Amino acid sequence: MKNLFKNFFIFLGVFLLIALLFSAFGNSNKSVEKVGLETLINQINKQEVSAIAIHDSELKITLKQGKEEIIKKEAGETFSQLIKNFNIDQTKLADIKIEVKEKEGADYWTAVILPFLLPFLLIGVLIYFMMRSVQGANNRMMSFGQSQAKEPSKENKDKITFKDVAGVKEAKEELKEVVEFLKQPQKFVEMGARIPRGVLLLGNPGTGKTLLARAVAGEADVPFFNISGSEFVEMFVGVGASRVRDLFRRAKKSSPCIVFIDEIDAVGRRRGAGLGGSHDEREQTLNQILVEMDGFEPNINVIIIAATNRPDVLDPALLRPGRFDRRVILDEPDLADRKAILQIHAKKKPLAKNVSLSRVAERTPGFSGADLANLLNEAAILATRRNKKIIEMNELFESIEKVMLGPERKSKILSDKEKKITAYHEAGHAIVAHFSLNANPVQKISIISRGQAAGFTITLPTEDKHMHTKTEFTEELSVLLAGHIIEHDIFGEVTTGSTSDLRRATNLARKLITDFGMSETLGLRTFGEKEEMIFLGSDAREQRNYSEKIAEQIDAEISSFIDKAAHQARGIIKAKKEELEKVVAILLEKETLEKEEFEEIVGARQS
Ligand code: ADP
Ligand code: MG
Ligand code: ZN
Repeated sequence: MKNLFKNFFIFLGVFLLIALLFSAFGNSNKSVEKVGLETLINQINKQEVSAIAIHDSELKITLKQGKEEIIKKEAGETFSQLIKNFNIDQTKLADIKIEVKEKEGADYWTAVILPFLLPFLLIGVLIYFMMRSVQGANNRMMSFGQSQAKEPSKENKDKITFKDVAGVKEAKEELKEVVEFLKQPQKFVEMGARIPRGVLLLGNPGTGKTLLARAVAGEADVPFFNISGSEFVEMFVGVGASRVRDLFRRAKKSSPCIVFIDEIDAVGRRRGAGLGGSHDEREQTLNQILVEMDGFEPNINVIIIAATNRPDVLDPALLRPGRFDRRVILDEPDLADRKAILQIHAKKKPLAKNVSLSRVAERTPGFSGADLANLLNEAAILATRRNKKIIEMNELFESIEKVMLGPERKSKILSDKEKKITAYHEAGHAIVAHFSLNANPVQKISIISRGQAAGFTITLPTEDKHMHTKTEFTEELSVLLAGHIIEHDIFGEVTTGSTSDLRRATNLARKLITDFGMSETLGLRTFGEKEEMIFLGSDAREQRNYSEKIAEQIDAEISSFIDKAAHQARGIIKAKKEELEKVVAILLEKETLEKEEFEEIVGARQS
């Protein structure tokens, strides 16, 4: 449609240009004077005229002095009649050269036919442009139903193998089996084993699902059809399904091979969960995937690997045996894994001799593989901007903060008052964290703003944890609340700086009660069912499976958890007033405090 408009305007432009040219042309014989018949009669009588040329309804007069004139006469009337009517002396006409000119062919035709032809021409050109843009759309339409799955060329030099994937040992073990299926299917078939059809990779964003799937293809050395779930979802119903058909047709042809569907949750959501139009299309696409997976003959060696970070929303039909019955979980990397991932990504980067990737790994719990890769990249950029030849430890540490909290905002300058409030706020978090023995120890405090926050306190676990106790959670709650409490107690007023602290505290408290069953009064059950709804942009909506009365109790319990935690924080702040003031003073002076400097002031942490 846009195209059509564009064409139309181009056309209009050309048309106007032509019209302009014509009118300029028309004005070009301005030097010829237009005169009336009376003037001509006068001039003839005065014998000033040397020649008259008669064109149809125009008389072109050439005077003896060389001047030219044009006179219009009625078309029907001949010149001789005209002469008679005006009683001009024949002798005076004798020495005037009179010429009758027929309109020349081309001239005549353009004059007569062009006015009729032009509108048709216009319409014709318009139609042509319209056809053309429609045809373009049509051509696109024809290739619409074909899957856009990409198949990388086989002799890919930087082929990814399992060596390029660090950590995720169990996942790799599972997938090694898949590689063997692809390489020697006979071995398994002879044993009567059924070759798995689908493998589902589950893991948080950035844990290396896409990477691992590529590595499987690299190891097995088979074609790898890669398509993302969202590519199945188009505006037109039926396109997704036809793309699925096309994809599987191509895959079967080049068996043995791998079909990789990234982000399968885009199509594989539980059917019937959505409101609004788009889910019809999704359901058709999903149905088609299921049909195709069932329709494989058992000896066809096509393995489908799908990846998602939302296994909870997948349609149960996808997970039943014979479809994605193998599930491979990619965990967040632990300390050793993080180090290994850092090593892989540091390979091509010049690191200083004293750089210890273990120390970077220690400081990055909760980082995913993608975060770590990003961290090293940021460090390289930072080193380049500092005109260094090698990456040193401080670039790496600075990049950790950048990845964790967003870029430093040196331009956001705090007033002295704001600085003081921020210093107390952050010192409050730090002191409470330090003296709550189950909370994570303080790694760094800063009153330089980063991302959204005016300042930040980083607390990190000393080791990777897989389970958390109620005490840890309540102490974490006190740490979160400490900033707000200190603002209130010291300045008598709170600022907007604690908004996100409070939100996190409230969410945590709610989770303790509704998900973890850590409330004494509400007892051993969970509350609320997270149901997937795709409705007006909001993705998850909680389905209440409890009564109004319980809802009130939950609210009361959240408040009680928070009150208890606040009380605890206040106690610590009162008891450690002296240390607090020291930390604030140094923060105001130096703006950042590392773990070691902080512990020098407040004493080492007992544990
Ligand atoms: P996902 O698909 O799970 O969201 P990706 O596979 O796209 O994550 O990972 C993004 C990037 O993070 C990869 O390209 C790789 O550079 C890095 N990465 C993630 N996990 C690992 C890992 N285990 N080993 C090495 N690099 C990793
Ligand atoms: Mg991915
Ligand atoms: Zn805070």
